Amino acid sequence: MDRQQSLFDKNHDRKASWLSRVRSEVLKCYALAEEFYLKSFPRPEVTLSLRGRSAGVAELQKNRLRFNPVLLEENHQEFLAQVVPHEVAHLLAWQLHGRRIRPHGREWQQIMQQVFAVQPDTTHRFDVSRSARQGYIYQCGCEDKEHALTVRRHNKIQRGQQYVCQRCRSTLSFLYVDESVTRT
Ligand SMILES: [Zn+2]
Ligand SMILES: [Zn+2]
Repeated sequence: MDRQQSLFDKNHDRKASWLSRVRSEVLKCYALAEEFYLKSFPRPEVTLSLRGRSAGVAELQKNRLRFNPVLLEENHQEFLAQVVPHEVAHLLAWQLHGRRIRPHGREWQQIMQQVFAVQPDTTHRFDVSRSARQGYIYQCGCEDKEHALTVRRHNKIQRGQQYVCQRCRSTLSFLYVDESVTRT
């Protein structure tokens, strides 16, 4: 195994282990909620596919939670203690009250305080400088992989430089600009 390949595997393992940390935090939140409400809730899908300035997002209809892996790694303690319950509380509020409530209204705040005993903050204070730069999305030959590049790398590629996926060895080709990241 060469150096680049082992670097890829290391990144891949690291991401997988963060995902399992987040998942187990999500499950703890659901255990607390079920104890509190004496009813069961469907477990959501959890991904680390969010980029840009947001730490997390709850997709209510899809029952899915998406978290930002860069902000997670850089702030993992506060992230697991605050962002995970914050987003789970959105799904629970939706399950309990439906669409007639405000996103950070009384119902959501009650879940945060009474079920999770967490301060109901609506914004995070994480440094987004690294996360907010990676908004140029490229694809390679891997089926399950997207590459998020900075504007600097993107401009280099536009001028003719080539980047190669460390796993499949194919040249990256431009897919789209992630507006949530590049917008300021
Ligand atoms: Zn929120
Ligand atoms: Zn690849």
